[in-house]
Amino acid sequence: MYRIDHWIDGHTVASNSGRNGNIFDPATGQVQGTVAFADVSEVDKAVANAKAALPAWRATNLSRRAEIMFNMRELVSANRKEIAALLTKEHGKVTADALGELARGLENIEYACGIPNLLKGGYSEQASAGVDVYNIRQPLGVVAGITPFNFPAMVPMWMFANAVACGNTFILKPSEKDPSASMLIAELLKQAGLPDGVFNVVHGDKVAVDRLLNHPDIAAVSFVGSTPIARYIYETGTKNGKRVQALGGAKNHMLVLPDADLDMAADALVSAAYGSAGERCMAISVVLAVDTIADDLVSKVQSRIPNIVVGNGSDPSSEMGPLITGEHRDKVASYVAAAAGEGAQVVVDGREGAPTEGFFLKPTLIDHAKPGMKCYDDEIFGPVLTVVRVKSYEEGLQLINDNQFGNGTAIFTRDGGVARQFQFDVNVGMVGINVPIPVPVSYYSFGGWKASLFGDLHMYGPDGIQFYTRSKVVTSRWPDPRTSKVDLGFPQNR
Ligand code: NAD
Repeated sequence: MYRIDHWIDGHTVASNSGRNGNIFDPATGQVQGTVAFADVSEVDKAVANAKAALPAWRATNLSRRAEIMFNMRELVSANRKEIAALLTKEHGKVTADALGELARGLENIEYACGIPNLLKGGYSEQASAGVDVYNIRQPLGVVAGITPFNFPAMVPMWMFANAVACGNTFILKPSEKDPSASMLIAELLKQAGLPDGVFNVVHGDKVAVDRLLNHPDIAAVSFVGSTPIARYIYETGTKNGKRVQALGGAKNHMLVLPDADLDMAADALVSAAYGSAGERCMAISVVLAVDTIADDLVSKVQSRIPNIVVGNGSDPSSEMGPLITGEHRDKVASYVAAAAGEGAQVVVDGREGAPTEGFFLKPTLIDHAKPGMKCYDDEIFGPVLTVVRVKSYEEGLQLINDNQFGNGTAIFTRDGGVARQFQFDVNVGMVGINVPIPVPVSYYSFGGWKASLFGDLHMYGPDGIQFYTRSKVVTSRWPDPRTSKVDLGFPQNR
């Protein structure tokens, strides 16, 4: 048994709130630790420290900020096995997947290494006689990040790397289900040279989140999690005058056209639906199969499922680990239980043969699903792939565009013209063409449309820099007595 407390002002701070949560080992189902749940005074303490650290940090020169990010890049890279082991221990994902998560998180630290370049403004010389105009980007102040259980290292990296490099100080409220990685990240940031108080971690639940949302010294909130909470964070945060970006849930469809390479499509579907036990916001959870190839595609996916090795994530032979909690596993299983009654066909039932110890569910395949069935309508967030048969490209596109979510989507085809039309027509924020999980690289930005994102700016990349800074425009003239006169008219340039 171990205990996770807060990280405030560069060191661990024991919580006195008297409230804690259990940390489970999802592979065994046993409680392995406890995590502190902050009360209002503990959040206030973290915010006060972040506020105190702000003036010196925002005055720190860009070269030094970049140097710290370079140091952090090296430290995360050198400690990647240790961080990955923490991810497997508390989240359950297999080691290879945990290392992949870190690699994608690291990209965001690498992007932030370019902060001197990223913060360049524009300059217009001689906008008027002797007058120059330029814009500068300045940090917002103390900003907060609230993150989900499914990427305990990568999603915080999406946020803090740019936030801190832009000159803000940061409070992270990680998922209470797998809080340890955030503490190791905090230690590494300290080793990298980040001054105390610039990066803080408060653990907890709604109490901590609500305090961040109404604290007058928090300027902005980045959130990633489920849609109902994302909507709540956006509405509450903006009502309280904060800048908010809140990324929500997903139901990602992959459209497979008759001309696609069906073996390639089946490999991609199995990887994208069952990797990380389907607990990815970019997982493919629905395949739209055009009638003429649907039987073939379903049988190709079905034939691959028995080869997937399900087991403890720390076992190198495992390809898919458990779900995050027993409660979540039971919820996912309830969709499988209900599917047949709704008129769908359970082709592979992952409840059968799943390890009994731990929170396991094996890969599940449901065919003949339709809108109106819960297994189609809801975000399941587990290893369940649902097949909807469609007559045409147009019918598939319509289903994607009618869906409440718009996070990711993919089309599998050899027809470049149709793929281009899809990219033009589809109402989804991230699109893959023969790529099942199109998570943008760190120099683009990540974000969905519709109920998958509340706010204007996407996460990380160029949007991240915009989100964590505000622009100031300076109009300047150096005194020249020859041009000075009294003029009560509105300033003009001509
Ligand atoms: P969640 O919404 O339950 O929790 C996310 C965060 O919000 C956690 O830190 C949690 O402590 C906090 N929280 C939970 N309930 C709250 C409440 N009532 N009030 C205030 N704060 C609350 O999400 P989760 O289960 O941790 O993560 C899975 C969800 O996240 C899925 O819906 C998935 O699609 C989504 N997700 C989305 C993206 C994306 O980029 N769009 C990425 C990863 C995960």
